[in-house]
Amino acid sequence: MNKKGFVIIFSGPSGVGKGTICQELFKHPELNLAYSVSMTTREKRANEVEGVNYFFVDKARFQEAIANDELLEYAEFVGNYYGTPKQYCEEQTNQGKNVLLEIEVQGATQVLAKNINAVSIFLIPPSLAELESRIRGRKSEAEDVLQARLAKAADELPLQKNYDYVVVNNTVDQATNEIIAILKKEIAQR
Ligand code: 5GP
Repeated sequence: MNKKGFVIIFSGPSGVGKGTICQELFKHPELNLAYSVSMTTREKRANEVEGVNYFFVDKARFQEAIANDELLEYAEFVGNYYGTPKQYCEEQTNQGKNVLLEIEVQGATQVLAKNINAVSIFLIPPSLAELESRIRGRKSEAEDVLQARLAKAADELPLQKNYDYVVVNNTVDQATNEIIAILKKEIAQR
């Protein structure tokens, strides 16, 4: 009998480096990961690929997904909607995969309320100043959006207390290794 996988909720403020660390985690087949591609109404960034980073949709399609109960969770984040397609997550966990959800705090709360088999990890920057310099370095946002994302980060950081694990992203290697250790422990226990 195939053992069911679990859900990994991976949150942290915009710009903290979740994407980079996700890419590192997927280099480890022993973690048995599947990445949940979210649906969003946000504009595609130049380096993003449809169906890989996100499913980019308009508001009408997003509302249809809500109405059809297609989403495991969804939230509004700085003027755009983001949500996790339910079907993929169910299929993959049924096949024994551990499904990584890179989602913000409101969505994480919704998933945790569903009483599904999940572990939650919150990634924090060494400081807010460091976070600002990382978002600026990415050059993907206009100044007003960047300021809104920084203000959001300050609101989100206290919610780290609701997560099973908090990891500081000092360096990609250190944070990746800590998360790998957490996941290996969780895999062994479940
Ligand atoms: P970004 O626009 O920087 O790609 O994402 C903005 C925020 O939305 C990030 O904190 C990211 O983790 C979160 N996010 C991405 N996909 C989802 C999702 O499906 N659901 C929720 N609740 N948040 C998401």
